[in-house]
Amino acid sequence: MRNLIALFACSCVTFCASAANDPAAAAAAKLAASVSRPASAMVPVAKKAEPVEKKAEPVEKKAEPAEKKAEPAATNEEEAEVELSAKIAQRLAALRERQQARATAAARAKKLADAKRRQDEQAALAAAAAAAAAPKHGTVWSYEGETGPANWSKINVDWAKCGTGNRQSPIDLRDGIKVNLEQISFDYHPSSFSEVNNGHTIQVTVGGGNFITVGNMAYELQEIHFHRPSEEKVNGKGTEMVMHLVHRSAEGKVAIIAVLLERGQPHRLIQTIWDNLPLEKHDVVSPSIVIDPTDALPERREYFTYMGSLTEPPCTEGVLWMVFKQPMQASPAQMALYSRMYPLNARPLQATSGRMIKESN
Ligand SMILES: [Zn+2]
Repeated sequence: MRNLIALFACSCVTFCASAANDPAAAAAAKLAASVSRPASAMVPVAKKAEPVEKKAEPVEKKAEPAEKKAEPAATNEEEAEVELSAKIAQRLAALRERQQARATAAARAKKLADAKRRQDEQAALAAAAAAAAAPKHGTVWSYEGETGPANWSKINVDWAKCGTGNRQSPIDLRDGIKVNLEQISFDYHPSSFSEVNNGHTIQVTVGGGNFITVGNMAYELQEIHFHRPSEEKVNGKGTEMVMHLVHRSAEGKVAIIAVLLERGQPHRLIQTIWDNLPLEKHDVVSPSIVIDPTDALPERREYFTYMGSLTEPPCTEGVLWMVFKQPMQASPAQMALYSRMYPLNARPLQATSGRMIKESN
């Protein structure tokens, strides 16, 4: 009887452990507890009986009738035991059935979840493929990180040249062919201007009527902007900053003059531009004063020239570049002010790809 109860208690503990939240298992555990309570109460009785047994030893034969008298009680207990074991078997069967049902339901749920996950994965892959195939028209670019120069061509389909072009700028100006380059003819005048911090540089739009003539072609000055450090290098060496003067011909051809900037004396034109900086990015200010673009030019006018591109998206090629050999100076304070806004806004060097570089004698 005690073994049977212990067996049932063990089975019940197993069930309870595997299905702690199951009400049937909890009920079985209760039953086991109620059944085992009398059993444990019986233990002291059995122990108390021990001395009686020992005392009975000498009169073994006299004890026999007592055993016989106990027989009807034993029969009752057997019947109770049979009844109880039947109950236990019934309850165990019910528990097993429940557990089987739970296992089947769990397996079905897992199968459904797996199928759903596979479906979701396939949908995500298809969406990613569609996104990759769709033409991109991003507009956000920068000089570092995800939207930096190495990825410009991937941001917008119209910026493909930034990645595939072989006439890109800036380049390292070396091994130039020294020739008697024609003088660039300047026809600059004091002009009205406006300024914007466009998020990539400080840009000064200059009023109309300022022209250069080179190669028998006239180009009108559009705007002046800055980079730090200089984008172009001469024999591998750059300067702290550079100023670009962007011109456009009536036919839409672009010619850019680069003026390298070194640390030294204050630069008059730069000071006027810095004095009028807008407080907020993308705000355009139009001061009531004028600037003379001639102040942007060094005394000596020898230059390097080659065919390249815009140095920012969309990296359009067919740009005539003229880089003055003589750098100009800007004061450390003027340099520092710019570097607070743009510590780095220069595109890295691009491959020369066998392009001809000419330079003034
Ligand atoms: Zn530039």
